[in-house]
Amino acid sequence: MSNQDRPLLLEVHNLKTYFFLDEGTVRAVDGADFSVFRGQTLGVVGESGCGKSVTARSILRIVPPPGRIVEGSIIYHRLSSDNGGSTTESIDLTALNPKGRRIRQIRGAEISMVFQEPMTSLSPVHTIGNQIMEAITLHQNVSKEEARQLTIDILDRVGMPQPHRTIDRYPHQLSGGMRQRAMIAMALSCRPSLLIADEPTTALDVTTEAQILQLMRDLQREFGMAIMFITHNLGVIAQMTEDVIVMYLGKVVEATDVDTLFYNPKHPYTQALLRSIPRLGRKSRQRLHAIPGTVPDPYAIPKGCPFHPRCDQAIPGLCDQLDPPYVEVEPGHSVRCHLYTQ
Ligand code: SF4
Repeated sequence: MSNQDRPLLLEVHNLKTYFFLDEGTVRAVDGADFSVFRGQTLGVVGESGCGKSVTARSILRIVPPPGRIVEGSIIYHRLSSDNGGSTTESIDLTALNPKGRRIRQIRGAEISMVFQEPMTSLSPVHTIGNQIMEAITLHQNVSKEEARQLTIDILDRVGMPQPHRTIDRYPHQLSGGMRQRAMIAMALSCRPSLLIADEPTTALDVTTEAQILQLMRDLQREFGMAIMFITHNLGVIAQMTEDVIVMYLGKVVEATDVDTLFYNPKHPYTQALLRSIPRLGRKSRQRLHAIPGTVPDPYAIPKGCPFHPRCDQAIPGLCDQLDPPYVEVEPGHSVRCHLYTQ
């Protein structure tokens, strides 16, 4: 299906989110462009510190100070149904007051998030049930009894054993995998249009990870929600996503569908990331390719293409001087690299 035929849910244009610190300005997100389609999954990949999580927090308008969005737009195409029909309203989330009523109606209800560490969003002093019921009653007009029943239903749906009893447990009484399920239950309790999952399975063992990934896929199909899946794990990307963006030092450097990313990557950084993953069939003594160098200091981003000190295809005199533009090299496939602008 071409991009024109897919209904858009979220459009991010030239997003810039900076942190203004005494030591200098950190350009955590420095020109991100991408789209999320209704009911589909966008993967966001890149090394630590590339701006993946700050992009997610910018969408929800929960960037902690001294960070703030300095440029760009985040257009959320909100679907509402009335009188048997449905209408779409386009809201620029960057224009909303981050503490205002409008974003609070959207955050947690229409766009929700799960984090790598469940204790980031679960309170240790309240039971799982009270926390999920609070999210439900905040956004839905239901009685306490109905909210409790809805909570038991969603806990059951995410595969929580004995949901009638687990509802009254505290987070510390649950295993890591169970806490992750509770957080997913809380995020899904209002049936969001978009679930942002920030490294949600990184801290789990492989069996629990596989179960949680399968669960997210099942619930996505059932609820018709879109997922923005943030990870550094390309295996998870291959398994979970339709579209992928690759980020490097706050910029989206490549965006395409998942098959093209694996079979025809264009950006040298994407190519290097793919060479660095273990594959079945690779000769046992063959060494994995490591990307040379390290991610530069965020206070001292190199001039020109930020990847040039680590790039094995850099063009001297060009890549170290000019930041490449972001260009569409084929329909639905965009790259930020001088190799495709000449
Ligand atoms: Fe490498 Fe130059 Fe492309 Fe940057 S612009 S990725 S340095 S070839």
